[in-house]
Amino acid sequence: MPIQELPPQLINQIAAGEVVERPSSVVKELLENSLDAGANRIHIEVEQGGVRRIRIRDDGCGIPRHELALALSRHATSKITSLEDLERVASLGFRGEALPSIASVSRLTLTSAVAGEGSGWRLRGDGGDRFDDPEPAPHPVGTTIDVKDLFFNVPARRKFLRTERTEYGHLEEVVRRIGLSRFDVTLDLSHNGKSTLRLPAASSQAERDHRVAQVCGQAFIGQSVFIEQAAAGLRLEGWMGLPTFSRSQADLQYFYVNGRMVRDKVVSHAVRQAYQDVLYHGRHAAFVLYLTLDPVLVDVNAHPAKHEVRFRESRMVHDFLFSSLHRALAELRPGARPAAGE
Ligand code: ADP
Ligand code: MG
Repeated sequence: MPIQELPPQLINQIAAGEVVERPSSVVKELLENSLDAGANRIHIEVEQGGVRRIRIRDDGCGIPRHELALALSRHATSKITSLEDLERVASLGFRGEALPSIASVSRLTLTSAVAGEGSGWRLRGDGGDRFDDPEPAPHPVGTTIDVKDLFFNVPARRKFLRTERTEYGHLEEVVRRIGLSRFDVTLDLSHNGKSTLRLPAASSQAERDHRVAQVCGQAFIGQSVFIEQAAAGLRLEGWMGLPTFSRSQADLQYFYVNGRMVRDKVVSHAVRQAYQDVLYHGRHAAFVLYLTLDPVLVDVNAHPAKHEVRFRESRMVHDFLFSSLHRALAELRPGARPAAGE
């Protein structure tokens, strides 16, 4: 075969292979876009585990009419314009890939309105890379993205989808993770017309505790401590499960770096080491922790779905995490506290 340039739709479908694994990945990308747009309330309605339909409605800044088609084109983003921007990126998105990828493997409708534009506008796609001109559609300021029939045109992908229940489970977990990343945002999830998870905006510590209890269970909140530690520009805060609340699986471990949930070897190692002396072999700690550091010190462009990050000073991050958690655990042990007056 001679060398040929791939058609744009196929390029998008190939990219979708990396970012859109299943319905939950669509929900993750759309929720991140809503958060980047400054939304305060987000409604997520899904049908049949998200395969039949995922509809996400937000009250963010919206997309102006003349940018609707651009939002669905590859490598088009409003979030960065230069390498310097990328190096200190604070938004969740920046690759300009999610919407075109999702649009190439589903029937996507994008409806949006910005302040001052009067009405809203709508763009429909049918899995191709061509869109008709936007049509007027009433919509409050914000955006609704309706994704129907995921993978309808990619049978190979469709085959890998699991049962409705399993897909829904993954999807709800994504909403929970996002819920723990932004307490100030209201999230409402429904499945097949039934409300399944409602996370009202939480501002006080009691409200935050309540949200954590909703996501991680009342038992976790009852058996965890809230910690806050800072040193050398690094900040760690969140809920640490007490050694008495260990798990047989590492299924209650939420770790956020600058607001983005990640799985990271450096982090896992530091946590395991800190808990090593207080947990039985084979048991896992439970935690919801937030690490904040200068964005320049972390590279978020390590993976298309951004589940991974690279720390520029991984030793320093490791030692900070280890010592913060280790100290907090030591202070829990009766007798380890300094005596009064000491
Ligand atoms: P990225 O998030 O990496 O920029 P996306 O393909 O996810 O790329 O989105 C493309 C662009 O569309 C974004 O940069 C943003 O300008 C716009 N956009 C997407 N979703 C929303 C939304 N819910 N509200 C406002 N703008 C949005
Ligand atoms: Mg995005």
